[in-house]
Amino acid sequence: MTQQDETPAFVRYQIQIKKTPNILDHPFRFRVKVSRVKLAKHILKEAIQYRGKLNVILSRPCVYGVFSGPIGGFAPRESLCVGCLRCTTEHPDMVSVHHNPDRDVLGDSYFNPNYIDTVVHEAEKGHIPIRGAGYRGTFGGTGWDGMWTDMSEIVRPTRDGIHGREFISTDVDIGGKPAYLHLDSTENPTNAETLAKTVTIPIPLMFDVLPSALSILPRGSQVLSKAAAQLQTFAVMPIASIKNFSLNTERLIPLIDPENYDETTLKHLKTKPALIALSSWNPTVYQKIAKAFPEALIILRTEFTSAHLLDAYEQGVRTFHLTTNYHGRSRDNRFILDLIRQVHNLFVQAQCRNEITLIGSGGIVAAEHFAKALICGLDVVAINTPALAALQAHFYGECAEPETSQFSLPNQLTIDWGTQRLKNLVSAWHNQLLEIMGAMGIREVRRMRGEMGRAMFQKELENEAFAGIQGYERQ
Ligand code: SF4
Repeated sequence: MTQQDETPAFVRYQIQIKKTPNILDHPFRFRVKVSRVKLAKHILKEAIQYRGKLNVILSRPCVYGVFSGPIGGFAPRESLCVGCLRCTTEHPDMVSVHHNPDRDVLGDSYFNPNYIDTVVHEAEKGHIPIRGAGYRGTFGGTGWDGMWTDMSEIVRPTRDGIHGREFISTDVDIGGKPAYLHLDSTENPTNAETLAKTVTIPIPLMFDVLPSALSILPRGSQVLSKAAAQLQTFAVMPIASIKNFSLNTERLIPLIDPENYDETTLKHLKTKPALIALSSWNPTVYQKIAKAFPEALIILRTEFTSAHLLDAYEQGVRTFHLTTNYHGRSRDNRFILDLIRQVHNLFVQAQCRNEITLIGSGGIVAAEHFAKALICGLDVVAINTPALAALQAHFYGECAEPETSQFSLPNQLTIDWGTQRLKNLVSAWHNQLLEIMGAMGIREVRRMRGEMGRAMFQKELENEAFAGIQGYERQ
């Protein structure tokens, strides 16, 4: 058997997860208050009533072990409480369960404590978080909550999800694909140089640039660089950070400010970058880089609302990385969900959507947002603040604008710990993506991009259902 014969037909993308405990104390969700006097009276009463039957007297109302410590309900183990409220239902006069006010300092108004909690759990364990008592929140709202995905049986021939008897592919291509082959008289493609210009990654997720305050320090960049390499994806990073910290460029996308570009900018890197990002549109610099690095894919990283997208396309750009602030808002306060749909449609109208790759960042802080962003029209999501939350970064006040937001990473952070936390996070999101795709009957993530047939919008449905009914105000 030759070496080629031994190569498996396909390799399933797997991320090695490992439990990686928090290095900073993470506030638990609930405070459990027990009246000790009433508890003592209750135990005494039961001791008399059940004539010393210890198995009855010492039985606990909590299956999660909150009252199973050495002295039971006299010192509840609050970290185990999932908020199912069984204890308060059985003993309303004795036990009360409250939200822990220490959690309120986590994150900010957008990346709120519930999202932070979920990300920290995912980064610690690498698993999909499962809550004991089902979902008790609202079933609609603003932003991402106003969009639902269609998982009805009619669209779902398979439901294998992460357990995978049937393979669900999450491979995506970054780069440009020409719409047509132009053949010469000998039937060879004349535009062959553009055909090879894609890079495939096994998950439609990469890491976005760190906030300005953290990109000047080595540890965050080193963690992103190592995690991107191990996950076989990419991290966008300012060229100055790559040079200053001597990082291996194999899985990094150097971000270049065209205003400061000259021939030396991309020199002295460890390897030639496969992808290069421009932080704003400058046709002259774009052409210079395209000439100097003909093998590289050049990405235009700009705002969703940029007026230059079609111009850049005309000049040869085939990969766009579009951004909002960390709260998913553009400068004119539009939300990323609407912006993705708008830009996707812009390229559909221009009849070139299949030729380009759209990467998006901002306001995507949960696995659910990740899947919804792809359905709305992104090919790849580049995450920023979720990576920081996974590393237990502290958010100082409202962290909306990348240039001015203040974060700090824990002093105890090591490169290996941070890398594993990011791998765990990405694995949890990957599994949730597979679950969503399985439930929607989609077996390839490339086909999920812009698949609006699987999306439902609360406003539209309410308008359809209630328009014309007295008292209903159309939205
Ligand atoms: S709310 Fe549920 S999980 Fe929490 S202490 Fe009570 S019974 Fe246990």
